[in-house]
Amino acid sequence: MEGRRLLLAVHDGVVECRACPRLVEWREQVAIQKRAAYLDQDYWGRPVPGFGDPEARILVVGLAPAAHGANRTGRVFTGDRSGDFLFAALHRVGLANQPEAVGLDDGLSLTDVFITAPVRCAPPANKPTPDERAACRPFFQREVAALVDWLVAEVAHAGVDVRLPTPVDVDAVLAESPDVVVVATGGWPDTCFLESGADLVATSWDVLGGLVRPTGRVLVYDDHGAERGLAAVEHLVEERAGYQAEQRADRQVSTLELVTPDRHVGYDLATPLGPAYLRILYGSGVVMISDHRLVRVESVEGDGSALRAVLRNEYTGDEVVHAVDAVVVEHGVVPDEHLYLSLRDGSANAGVVDLVALAAGDSQPAFRVNPGSTSDSGSTDGYLLYRVGDCVASRDVASALLEARRLLQHL
Ligand code: SF4
Repeated sequence: MEGRRLLLAVHDGVVECRACPRLVEWREQVAIQKRAAYLDQDYWGRPVPGFGDPEARILVVGLAPAAHGANRTGRVFTGDRSGDFLFAALHRVGLANQPEAVGLDDGLSLTDVFITAPVRCAPPANKPTPDERAACRPFFQREVAALVDWLVAEVAHAGVDVRLPTPVDVDAVLAESPDVVVVATGGWPDTCFLESGADLVATSWDVLGGLVRPTGRVLVYDDHGAERGLAAVEHLVEERAGYQAEQRADRQVSTLELVTPDRHVGYDLATPLGPAYLRILYGSGVVMISDHRLVRVESVEGDGSALRAVLRNEYTGDEVVHAVDAVVVEHGVVPDEHLYLSLRDGSANAGVVDLVALAAGDSQPAFRVNPGSTSDSGSTDGYLLYRVGDCVASRDVASALLEARRLLQHL
């Protein structure tokens, strides 16, 4: 109920919003001028709220309303070709009650799916500026929070004691006298591979999370090879385009280099994604440097903001120095394992997870490898400790929940 109430509040806030003058002018101008095919229709011409099942487990996120699609019909993805495809697909798998979406009164309803966009007003040329995206972000965050609130409420309804946000240390866990402890603390971006200068670099997490906004000559180093490093570059490219359009030279990335020790960028990228990223990288002038490893980052004396990034050739060992203003690294993550290690010695199973049994959905072995452990948890010789979650994608909450469910269904 709380989630529904929050979603309604977001809906009301969205449809009245006029925070971005450029977008307000554009959406209203389009609604007056209209496309020839829709001259007889009244355009919505306002911000477009999210749509779907307030108790959804699946969230579909677009970019922004289309000028003659959602900006005409008033419902996200409704009235344009991508919507035709999307709703037909949702209907095929039983998530929509009908395959067509043409307007607010067409009878469409979704089950288990909520559709939204991070920008609610149709932007000229489909390109919102960074400031417009930032202005609209709270609506998106509140919608997602409302969906999560519902999930939390359901879990609590099932008898689970949910405590958010509650940092936990070993004393807090042991105070509960648990029989079983499942830890899913994930990991943190790793910068410790550098011989020196780890304190001078940002991570792809920082960039994608909006915590840092590099400017000037930016070097992105990616030896992880998956999508996150390239997503950070794409983010920087988009920001640069936005600031160029606004003629904000002070905020712009002037040059962008992407360095990898692999033979090419995105070495571990899923095959269909490679060409899409390469189009972006080539099309936006990103300089790609392969076969080089970032080994050190040094500050330039007398110039507070300038850095030297030292790259070492993987085959010759030769080092080259690149003068830059910011370095962003993607080197995967290291486990955030302090809580797990603190609990391990006191556990009855030494914190061991039988991965074969976990993958098969079977129960964990009943043996206790640490019979000397003690606890006041009843008939057992100490609590059982399991660590789950995916440290490669360190905040992969979905993996953690799935693995926890596999474990706990047999306990
Ligand atoms: S884009 Fe978002 S913040 Fe900007 S006017 Fe539209 S609804 Fe408001």
